Amino acid sequence: MAKYIFVTGGVTSSLGKGIIAASLGKLLQARGLSVTIQKFDPYINVDPGTLNPYEHGECYVTEDGAETDLDLGHYERFLNIFTSQANNVTTGRIYQTVINKERDGAYLGKTVQVVPHITDEIKRRMLLLGQGGFDIVITEIGGTVGDIESLPFIEAVRQLQWELPEEDCVVVHLTLIPYLKAAKELKTKPTQHSVRMLSQEGVHPDVIVCRTEEPLGPEIKRKIALFCNVKKEAVIEAADAPTIYEVPLAMMREKLDLICLKKMNITQYSEPELSKWKEFLDKLKYPKSKVTIGLIGKYIELQDAYKSILEAFIHAGAMNECKVNIVNVHSEFITDENVEEKLGHLDGLLVAPGFGHRGIEGKITAVKYAREQKLPFFGICLGMQMSVIEFARNVLNWPEAHSTEMDPATNRPVIDLMEEQKSVTAKGGTMRLGAYPCQITEGTLAHQIYGATQISERHRHRWEFNNKYLADFEAAGLVASGKNPESGLVEIVELPNHPFFLGVQYHPELKSTVENPQPVFVHFVKAAKEYAEKKDAVRNPLLQNEMI
Ligand code: GLN
Repeated sequence: MAKYIFVTGGVTSSLGKGIIAASLGKLLQARGLSVTIQKFDPYINVDPGTLNPYEHGECYVTEDGAETDLDLGHYERFLNIFTSQANNVTTGRIYQTVINKERDGAYLGKTVQVVPHITDEIKRRMLLLGQGGFDIVITEIGGTVGDIESLPFIEAVRQLQWELPEEDCVVVHLTLIPYLKAAKELKTKPTQHSVRMLSQEGVHPDVIVCRTEEPLGPEIKRKIALFCNVKKEAVIEAADAPTIYEVPLAMMREKLDLICLKKMNITQYSEPELSKWKEFLDKLKYPKSKVTIGLIGKYIELQDAYKSILEAFIHAGAMNECKVNIVNVHSEFITDENVEEKLGHLDGLLVAPGFGHRGIEGKITAVKYAREQKLPFFGICLGMQMSVIEFARNVLNWPEAHSTEMDPATNRPVIDLMEEQKSVTAKGGTMRLGAYPCQITEGTLAHQIYGATQISERHRHRWEFNNKYLADFEAAGLVASGKNPESGLVEIVELPNHPFFLGVQYHPELKSTVENPQPVFVHFVKAAKEYAEKKDAVRNPLLQNEMI
């Protein structure tokens, strides 16, 4: 029988509920328990697939092709597990299920209501993963307590607190303890109010995790315990950390895992096995070299738009004992005239995934620069498609080459809508999504990177390399080194006469975890390191001689 931990949030959004949930999950997993995490989001969209990154940051895609909240990325990166469609549920999906059932006549004769029909469906989904053989299911409730939207979710937790055996249910409430500089004081009042609000909704937290910029100290902890009706040891300090990967260790010091285990009456557990995690943190904290990589995209002002890419670079950097400094370059402002000035200082170039025509020409100019200057290049999804267009225009001399996504009337549709997409009109969940196999050609860069000829990676796209032109490209020197074994769809392109030039149609960033950094990222950072060393040697031959 699984036990359930619910994580709610109070005071403000963006306190890092996902990181706290993932850290708690990591600690319980490290103690030998099998854990999964799910997220319930209060918005009406059926999934975040139709939301743009300004609304919701990155859309994270699971193995089974679900378009989900970016917190699922944290769960996978921390726990080194795969999540699925069942791990992310929205209000929209709950209502869709209930309304479909109503149309099918499942409630014939009855009035369908928020309580009990919507809350029953929420509870059913909250308990669903518990049937998968996990010891513990952690459920993060999106939004902030007091929001109108999240009320049915909190109500479902209230009911479960009564329906489940007491030791099978824990509620962890994450709040903020603001520090008022002028008064030089930490303030507990917002936390008191948010716990009161939660209690009014019928849910009493067992543990309160307090985000804070300053150490709480025993007096503040005592005060929170007193006013919020929890034990003093159940008030956990979550101080700002230099990296999210420190948080599990900080939570271990605060005994968050032990408090939850005690409440759940779990006595069979081991000392936390975190040696790989700690090794990763050591490498992250004490890098031996540094590279600067340009991330070319159109959402560069948004931290969350390329979340998984940034995290994959952290994993790959640690693996190379190298600090990866990412500089965001807005593709809209790159031109032939300023490309050297904008990209000349880089050790590697990543052209990001994306949709639509904004910033496209700048991306193509950036790829051209990387190809000609032999700057390590890595293109993901749209980035790969741009490298194909660049090659067509500047090597094959097809100036009109384009993707039909941006120019439906182009004479040279080197990137074209996938055949099975041509009849698709609905937008939600209709792209080529999730894991697909890829066959790699031996002796290529891709083969060297993966050390295998059969791989599987996750996808999210509608357009593809147009195989009608494959022979022309290959004759001119571009190698299609990875293909889908069934459809022949080109998944990887590369240039042999270049230190590192690789474009992938899939999203390798989605499978990078602390314990298994994604190999393309690892090799790309390595190539950037080598490029930086060579650049230094040219710029500073004396220094090199001295070092020898
Ligand atoms: N817009 C492109 C397509 O749909 C690329 C998608 C992406 O980068 N994820 O094929």
